[in-house]
Amino acid sequence: MALETLRHHCGVMAVSGQENASEIVFHGLYALQHRGQESSGIISTDGTRFCRRLGMGTLTQVFHDPQNLKELLGRAAIGHNRYSTTGSSSAFNIQPLSAVLKDGPVAIGHNGNLVNTHKLRERLQDKGAIFQSTTDSELIIHLLAHSKERAFTDKMLDAIAQIEGAYSLVVLTNNAVLALRDPHGIRPLCIGVKDNSTVVASESCALDLLGYEYVRDVEPGEMIICDDDGWRSHRFAEEPNTDHCIFELIYFSRPDSKVFGEYVDKSRRKMGKNLAHDHPADSDIVISVPDSSNTAALGYSSRSDTKFEIGLIRNHYVGRTFIQPTPAMREMGVRLKFNPVGGVLKDRKVVIVEDSIVRGTTLRKLTELLRDRGVKEVHVRVSSPPIRYPCYYGMDFPTCEELIAHNRSVEEVQEQIKVDSLGYLSVESLLNSVPRDQGQGYCTACFTGEYPIAVNEDGNKERYDT
Ligand code: SF4
Repeated sequence: MALETLRHHCGVMAVSGQENASEIVFHGLYALQHRGQESSGIISTDGTRFCRRLGMGTLTQVFHDPQNLKELLGRAAIGHNRYSTTGSSSAFNIQPLSAVLKDGPVAIGHNGNLVNTHKLRERLQDKGAIFQSTTDSELIIHLLAHSKERAFTDKMLDAIAQIEGAYSLVVLTNNAVLALRDPHGIRPLCIGVKDNSTVVASESCALDLLGYEYVRDVEPGEMIICDDDGWRSHRFAEEPNTDHCIFELIYFSRPDSKVFGEYVDKSRRKMGKNLAHDHPADSDIVISVPDSSNTAALGYSSRSDTKFEIGLIRNHYVGRTFIQPTPAMREMGVRLKFNPVGGVLKDRKVVIVEDSIVRGTTLRKLTELLRDRGVKEVHVRVSSPPIRYPCYYGMDFPTCEELIAHNRSVEEVQEQIKVDSLGYLSVESLLNSVPRDQGQGYCTACFTGEYPIAVNEDGNKERYDT
């Protein structure tokens, strides 16, 4: 995956009860930059009015002048880093989305993907609603506007009672910050505190940076209401069965984050260990595809008692936006991003640990590159099962036809990527690698095709952006 970056679909951040809340959100979003790099935005309130700055690009591109943040006043703010689905990175989809409702302004930041968007959107459009964006998140604002409830929190509950799918939401009004997580708890969301201030963030790495103490996750089916008096909880779903996105633990979340009740690093290491147990290889060294596979490779190395080496150096300055207009330049893509360390690799039998394989095209090129540098044997070990199905809950996988493992056996994939051996972690071993001591359940639909939230046909046909 390090090779074929998946689009993460967003990181969210909210702060309440802290002077210069926008600065806190800025730094939190900085820690969450890996979750979205196409656009960023922060909206704050001083209790009477909203201040906002949103733009295309990374956080530092949007907030390139220190004055940008100083203009975002107030003790409460929310922010969002976004990836779009293909072809829809346009300015009107940048989040947080905001609107002025009858009772005052509201802004929302959303991580996840709704699955009944098409039906709801049509119903609202029939009533005269005019949509400003192509995001599914805008639906929530329209549902708030149409709610007959009086209190804002009741309007919010009314709105989310009508949506289905994955949502970790942060919501800003002039009086409070809300945070909500869908009853399946698909995307992560956690709470931190410092003095009288509360933060909510997609991942705990944002809290660490800011010196906030991690309290716990926002529970699936829970709404958190934050104001100057602290935070309180309201449950809107009875004893939900959780279906956390297991891919957060394989690849999306940072290893230093606590997600679904445990440090990601711990799960990833176990994945590597279980992979070594299930798929040993006769090799001299273990290397990783940096950076996302580093931890799993360390786990593989320790269980297999095979030396871990830095075999590939990653160039961190090659952006996603790198233009590859000609086949020759496309060919150069992998070489630009990774350079093999010849002295480590020459004449060696190498296990290369990768966290997942999507299309397989770049892994094939990387294998060629390794062989060019004198590697004797290439054994690929993948710390996740074969990806065979699309994700409808917020991950922009390519179509089934583009997934190398769709309708192919492991042997056929091995043949396609031209390696000496290939081993994937099984779904069972994957589930044995992740935290389950608090009854956590997981979505594994992209491997098994068993979707925990039914995806209706309309939703399947038309996927909206988050
Ligand atoms: Fe995560 Fe895969 Fe489920 Fe999507 S289908 S939520 S990527 S586990």
